Amino acid sequence: MTGAASSASRIAADVRGGRRSAVEITREALARCDRHAELGALLYVARDTALAAASRLDARRAAGEPLGTLAGVPVVVKDALCTIDAPTTCASRILTRDGTPATGWRPPYDAEAVARLRAADAIVLGKANLDEFAMGSSTEHGAFGATHNPADPTRTAGGSSGGSAAAVASGLAPLALGSDTGGSIRQPASFTGVVGIKPTYGRVSRRGLVAFASSLDCVGPLAATVEDAALLLAVVAGHDPLDSTSLDARAGDYVAACGREVAGLRVGVPREYLETGLEPEVEASFREGLAQLGRAGCEIVDVSLPSTRLAVATYYVIAAAEASSNLARLDGVRFGLRVEPPAGGIAALHAATRSRGFGAEVKRRILLGTWVLSAGYYDAYYLRAQRARTLIREDFVRAFASVDAIAAPVSPVPAFRLGERLDDPLSMYLADALTLPPSLAGLPALSVPSRPTRPTGDRPALPVGLQLVAPPLEEERLLALAAAVERAATP
Ligand code: GLN
Repeated sequence: MTGAASSASRIAADVRGGRRSAVEITREALARCDRHAELGALLYVARDTALAAASRLDARRAAGEPLGTLAGVPVVVKDALCTIDAPTTCASRILTRDGTPATGWRPPYDAEAVARLRAADAIVLGKANLDEFAMGSSTEHGAFGATHNPADPTRTAGGSSGGSAAAVASGLAPLALGSDTGGSIRQPASFTGVVGIKPTYGRVSRRGLVAFASSLDCVGPLAATVEDAALLLAVVAGHDPLDSTSLDARAGDYVAACGREVAGLRVGVPREYLETGLEPEVEASFREGLAQLGRAGCEIVDVSLPSTRLAVATYYVIAAAEASSNLARLDGVRFGLRVEPPAGGIAALHAATRSRGFGAEVKRRILLGTWVLSAGYYDAYYLRAQRARTLIREDFVRAFASVDAIAAPVSPVPAFRLGERLDDPLSMYLADALTLPPSLAGLPALSVPSRPTRPTGDRPALPVGLQLVAPPLEEERLLALAAAVERAATP
């Protein structure tokens, strides 16, 4: 293949069977990265280390060693995940020495999810662009430029894992890792037409994911197909004793789950989600997705999640509070940037470094988060947000007493134009309304491509994802449903 990457399972089978070499596959993937550099999907291409890993793999194969599930598969990793052999910047100047990704922080270890990739013999191709510290929904809030949507480069690829999504959608690599705190895997997957899974909170280790909001952060896969996403999830999921929030639960057989029967499953449609001002084309695509599930034998029923309207405010209080605490460690002393003020001691060093190092959106969150945690406001904001979070979680518990899964749109609009919402953070936050509730409840959720929008005068057909949400640890059910939608959508 010279065009887009072929499927991950196919590449791995070919490399294991000796039909293709890992070096050849890596070279082709690197050439695609060069060809599509203008998309801004990657912050760093790991050319030398990827080729070296591929040639080690080929040597092991020649020596008759058995190879792993992802043998020779190029994988792109969101630049919020630590990599021992490549800079990790979180798209922030503060994690660089001189404002360029190449001088980014060099972590002394791999994130657990990245270590598992390498243990499965995947090839880490590069680090994907994101909104600074994963704060955003458009991959425009990074220090090193925006990511463009392969379906229409004047539009956003979504965010914050926009680089990972664009890399898969444009065929740079068949697989990518992203992170999802409030929608950052599902929304870019929806905007670019790929599959993205936010696993149950704790299903995939967070160790080595630079923390944004620790009670919400999840690592998960993006891929061109449901089965490839399942394959990657199977590699990264599972207990990690060194992450105290990792769930001690066996990972499922995710690839097999893609072939599982879905007839008879009850799928709930939360009525509140349809009252959020969906663009008509998004609603039409959603209805088509529901019809496909119906044709696969699912029973579609109405459910109510009455606390949905609290989600945006709740999330932006909790996530900002946790971010303000997590980002306190970036102070010019241990990591990356250090701006020495002419005078004033350590506090002045902190202030000068943080003022120069963080972008506007991150500063906004730190200020908001510090404020809601401060003595006079803690009860009024942070504590109330925690209570609202419980209400949101209880909504789902009630709904799942009568349905097996929930179907919803991912975003009320398809990919919007780059720059369009930059001056209006509130409109950016409000568009997260449909991905935030499952995040606050810690539930597994995914986005699978549904019918694209119809082209209009000034807008090409744009991808639209269908969101599916399941009870905790029911990723297999989600995958079965997503595969049914995918089959119905593929002629
Ligand atoms: N868009 C949301 C935010 O800006 C979610 C980001 C994420 O999931 N990392 O916080």
